[in-house]
Amino acid sequence: MEHDVHLKVSSYECCMLCPRKCRADRHAGKRGFCGQTDEIRLARAALHFWEEPCISGKNGSGAVFFTGCTLRCIFCQNREISTGESGKAVNTEELARIFLNLKEKGAHNINLVTPTHFMPSVCDALKLSGEQGFDLPVISNTSGYERVQCIREFGNDIDIWLTDIKYADPLLAGRFSGAYDYTEYAYPALEEMVRQAGGALFDEAGLMKKGVIVRILVLPGHTKEAKAVLDKLYHCYGNDIYYSIMNQYTPPVFLRNGGIIKEYTELNRRLTKREYDKVTEYALSLGIENAFIQEGETSFDSFVPAFDLTGVLGEG
Ligand code: SF4
Repeated sequence: MEHDVHLKVSSYECCMLCPRKCRADRHAGKRGFCGQTDEIRLARAALHFWEEPCISGKNGSGAVFFTGCTLRCIFCQNREISTGESGKAVNTEELARIFLNLKEKGAHNINLVTPTHFMPSVCDALKLSGEQGFDLPVISNTSGYERVQCIREFGNDIDIWLTDIKYADPLLAGRFSGAYDYTEYAYPALEEMVRQAGGALFDEAGLMKKGVIVRILVLPGHTKEAKAVLDKLYHCYGNDIYYSIMNQYTPPVFLRNGGIIKEYTELNRRLTKREYDKVTEYALSLGIENAFIQEGETSFDSFVPAFDLTGVLGEG
């Protein structure tokens, strides 16, 4: 549990924006675990059509991909941007302009992809864009590895929490994502998201305006883990939240090319239909009604866009 929840966290000078609590002076150019200074870096800002139907709609979701991440998932499909230096620096005014541009392109919402480590700047940019007519629902598309205090501090700017809950077992969270404390943070953070969002709200076209969608990516060989996550969630929230049960796991290239790391060999294959069916049937047996279920074969590869700076001012 967090013992310092009374501390204000919205500062880059002694950064405690996420559970890593590095205390890095990002304002002075230092980098914490996420690998980022206080300079906002984006890899792409464009319409995205591969989210849940109530998010993508017909026109697409205005997805803004931030560089850096607070987790180190061994199976990360966005490795190109989650680590390292990719992306382009933008300032707050430019980020506000990007939000407005996406609105002009017809986006149903703004979909902040992995924004946790830039939330103070994101909120400033949302305020600026709001002064210029921006009024779309704002989505935080997060790994779930969040601090309650940050959800409280920045939550007023978020309408929809599109959050992963990756694990029920802390050991697996440590092994696969480098965060043995994932469950210690993710479940209380989700509780705060649900408290803030209240009941889900949809417009007449079926687009979500407000609410919480929890994504559960089923990993090969780990259907028990996915079921344990569903158990925990359903026990706490029943059908007050939406569940998105995902079958799109694809072994990352470095595992596909020989599975070089022995301890991860179980991840060197796709999920079978039987495994996925087991989990979705279990969800139904629990009584889950609000679930997004993927039909047929899907693959992460097809959902990963080019991180080529499209839509990042002056590019793409
Ligand atoms: S946001 Fe980055 S620097 Fe800040 S605590 Fe998290 S990992 Fe560390």
